[in-house]
Amino acid sequence: MGLVVQKYGGSSVADAEGIKRVAKRIVEAKKNGNQVVVVVSAMGDTTDELIDLAEQVSPMPAGREFDMLLTAGERISMALLAMAIKNLGHEAQSFTGSQAGVITDSVHNKARIIDVTPGRIRESLDKGNIAIVAGFQGVSADKKDITTLGRGGSDTTAVALAAALDAEVCEIYTDVDGVFTADPRVVKKAKKIDWISFEDMLELASSGSKVLLHRCVEYARRYNIPIHVRSSFSGLQGTWVSSEPIEQGDKQVEQAIISGVAHDTSEAKITVVGVPDKPGEAASIFRTIADAEVNIDMVVQNVSAAATGLTDISFTLPKSEGRKAIDALEKNRAGIGFDSLRYDDQIGKISLVGAGMKTNPGVTADFFTALSDAGVNIELISTSEIRISVVTRADDVVEAVRAVHTAFGLDSESDEAVVYGGTGR
Ligand code: ASP
Ligand code: MG
Repeated sequence: MGLVVQKYGGSSVADAEGIKRVAKRIVEAKKNGNQVVVVVSAMGDTTDELIDLAEQVSPMPAGREFDMLLTAGERISMALLAMAIKNLGHEAQSFTGSQAGVITDSVHNKARIIDVTPGRIRESLDKGNIAIVAGFQGVSADKKDITTLGRGGSDTTAVALAAALDAEVCEIYTDVDGVFTADPRVVKKAKKIDWISFEDMLELASSGSKVLLHRCVEYARRYNIPIHVRSSFSGLQGTWVSSEPIEQGDKQVEQAIISGVAHDTSEAKITVVGVPDKPGEAASIFRTIADAEVNIDMVVQNVSAAATGLTDISFTLPKSEGRKAIDALEKNRAGIGFDSLRYDDQIGKISLVGAGMKTNPGVTADFFTALSDAGVNIELISTSEIRISVVTRADDVVEAVRAVHTAFGLDSESDEAVVYGGTGR
């Protein structure tokens, strides 16, 4: 008998009907002879609604009480799901993250899982139950406080439980049929990917693809847990994310040259203008940023103008951290020695990802040609071994993604990608 972990996202359990539909799927998996552990997210947009509510009470809620509040969302869905399963004549028990043994550090709102001790889950399974676990939450090792894992954290809960329980697979049910060659909400002709390596998936996730979170894929790679991303609304095979290509029927799925195009409009750009071109300047700028605990993405330094010996340094960062970064730099202006700061939040990032670009010359040239044919101006460029990213105007992003998708032959000839649910909020 195998053990499977299934995770259902908020849009799959958005209302009572959704919960009943999901309960049927879970019972099917059990009837097929599996031990089944289910991880659920909060119903629909519940988490966002709870955040709105907290903000009405206090302008910048954070920390212990905020986590306590947010974890309520997952508690509602886990209990309802257990009831719906019982109603179908099967035994189910629900567990909070803490009861399931999800132990984290004590960083509220973005805690990291440091251990999983799923004793109670095992016991429940051994008694023949289906175990339902609230995603996105845990308990801190030192203070025993309730923590949350950061937005979208239920996927990480699922993979962590799959690893701790030595599951055969972690199935992630979402509102699309799998991982697509581009966001199907933007590119109707996006194709479902049958198999993708952990490496390519990690690059897509860190480039803005929202279907799986970076932290969840990182965890799956570390413990070598295959992930099957699929829809809870259709019975179709989804996308396998694993270390080795899967077999389908009698044919092996091949590594694609290009896995897909990702885009991200959640970043802003800061330009530090008039920085003396001498050793130590970049160090003091980025030390300042690091001390403010701001994560940066791309960095570009221009050549200095000969007459002045001054240069500009630009970098991108999450918009949500913009204020913090600007304040920190302003405070250190005398120490660093720059003229002024420019802040631009009307940017977007487009990334092309694929392990095949290591061995296929011309990918970069084709990428830039596609952008230029679409009349899109490039502001910043950064690359890794298996990714090229550019920053453009935010307004150009949709056009750019579609143009690049077509140029690399990724458009599907037959079917349009289906988005089954979710408000995309
Ligand atoms: N409910 C949480 C969120 O919306 C966690 C999750 O969905 O994975 O971020
Ligand atoms: Mg959610």
